[in-house]
Parts: sequence; structure tokens; C-alpha cells
Amino acid sequence: MSSAVPLEVGISRSADSGPAGGKRVLLAEPRGYCAGVDRAVETVEKALDKHGAPIYVRKEIVHNRHVVETLTERGVVFVDETDEVPDGSLLVFSAHGVSPAVHQAAAARNLQTIDATCPLVTKVHQEAKRFARDDYDILLIGHEGHEEVEGTAGEAPDHVQLVDGPDAVDAVTVRDDSKVIWLSQTTLSVDETMETVARLRTKFPHLQDPPSDDICYATQNRQVAVKAMAAECDLVIVVGSRNSSNSVRLVEVALGAGAKDAHLVDYAREVDPEWLDGVTTVGITSGASVPEILVRGVVDLLAEHGFSDVQSVTTANETLVFALPRELRSPRR
Ligand code: SF4
Repeated sequence: MSSAVPLEVGISRSADSGPAGGKRVLLAEPRGYCAGVDRAVETVEKALDKHGAPIYVRKEIVHNRHVVETLTERGVVFVDETDEVPDGSLLVFSAHGVSPAVHQAAAARNLQTIDATCPLVTKVHQEAKRFARDDYDILLIGHEGHEEVEGTAGEAPDHVQLVDGPDAVDAVTVRDDSKVIWLSQTTLSVDETMETVARLRTKFPHLQDPPSDDICYATQNRQVAVKAMAAECDLVIVVGSRNSSNSVRLVEVALGAGAKDAHLVDYAREVDPEWLDGVTTVGITSGASVPEILVRGVVDLLAEHGFSDVQSVTTANETLVFALPRELRSPRR
């Protein structure tokens, strides 16, 4: 796990550049692209440069509309399953990871594959394999139907059961309550996950914790940053797509931490001017799959509405970078 996870949260702010009591924007830092998304998007771009269009990507490379639309324009074909890819073509697996069955299906069709799975998702896959080998019941906390959860569960389908939030705990049964471990999706709300774990532990007192945090550094850091400013905000705008788990969680975390209102938008044009009625302080953050250009669009739009005083609220500095998949390694940009 990255050293970028703040254990003690220090908050630093850029200087107030505007009039006291005026309309202002608080900009969460960190926000936007994480190391895994940066690597996945660059993987597709490099694969396009090297192999030419079309190349195929199974599922959205990352959960962001703008990224997917931009890559589609460049000749990337997004598919749901391997059987939609012509034999012998190049297929990239998305940042969310895939199960062994998907690797096998691609091999059966002679597809050339590049795996852009985030290394922090791969780490959870390895944990699932290891505890399945030791015959544990694995309680995987995550959202039903999310691609990452399907990939992780697919590593050990006979040992993994999904626990989709605290209310799902009542239905969980295990074979031997002395051999139970919980793992999780990487992009969950930290607080809600701990609530689920507490309820699981009441039911299974010997429940073991994962060897290291499964909720990744980027998810945690973005939640810490939005929490640090939420109580001051009349409105928090989270830039991100509706199918982006970590972006949706940021809206929930902002509201839970005291923001009076919070909305998720893909683009600045989706900001409803009525949200700004009577508002003095707007917080802005973005999910881990969101390019900064989309945040700039929202900042510019707010400036047109008189929110020209922009202050950063910084709770961590991230420096983590992942190497590209082996097939594409060359000096990073
Ligand atoms: S959100 Fe976390 S797990 Fe997902 S791609 Fe980014 S770093 Fe990896």
C-alpha cells in the first residue's frame, strides 16, 4: 500500500484570495486520477499508438464517460465480453480486473491480451486465491454486479460470498466460523465498510481482517479530503460518472460529513444553476477516474456565477505511479 495514505490527517489550505464572506470554491486535494486509472488509460493510448485502431477493450477501461468517449473517437471498441472480439485481435482488460474464466475465454479465441488491471485490485485477487487455498470462507464486501467484484469473486467462486452492505449481513452463513475472513472492493466508503465489518464480527467473532487495506489509498484519500471541507460547504459538486463507485461514494461521504447538498456531474453543463441559489461555499472534488479538464470546466462555470475565489483544501500528497503492463513498457511521459 502506498505511503500516500494519511494516517494522521493534516489539512493545508491555499491562501484566501477573495473578499471575506464572499462566494468561494473549496477544491479538494487529492482528487481525480489515481495511479491505477492513469496506468489503465495510458495502456490503451500506448496500445493504440503501437498497434493502430481498432483495438478492443473489455468493459469501460475506467468508469468515466469522457474517457470512454474520447478513446472511442480514437478507434477503441468497447465490448462487454470476449466473444464480441474478432479472433486474433488485441483486447485490453480494464482497470477493474477480470476473473480467470475471462482470461481463459480470451485465450480460447486466440486474442492477444494486455491486462490493465490496477495492481491494487490484483492484490485483492491474490488475497482471495490465498485464503481460498487455505479453505477459508471469504466474505467479500462490495456492490453486487460491479465488475471488480465479479473479477475478484471469480478467483475463488466456491469460497467467496458477496456482502453488499451492512443490511446483507443477516443472510450470511459460513461453514466454519473459526475460518472466516473479509475482503473488500477497492472503492467503497470506508465508514460504511467498517459498519459492515462490525456487524459481521458480531455474528462471527473470529472474523479475520485482510492482511492490508483493500480499500485503496486513492479512494481513502479522496474521502478524507472531501470530509475535511464538507461541513463548510453549502453544496459539494463531485465530478464523476454514475457507474463510478468511488465517485458515487464521494457524494455520500460529503453529505455524511455535513455538506448541505451534494451532486454528481459528468460535465459542467450538468450543473443546475438552481443548486447555487443562496449558496456561499461550493466544494468541488472528483472521482479517481476523472480527468482534471472536467474539474476545470466546473471551476470555470462557477466563476461565471461569481465564485471566483478558489481555495485548495489539501489533506495528502500522492506520488504513487505504477509501471505500464510489460508489453508496453517504455519511458513514461
Ligand atoms: S481507485 Fe484504487 S484500485 Fe481503483 S484503479 Fe485507482 S488506485 Fe486502483
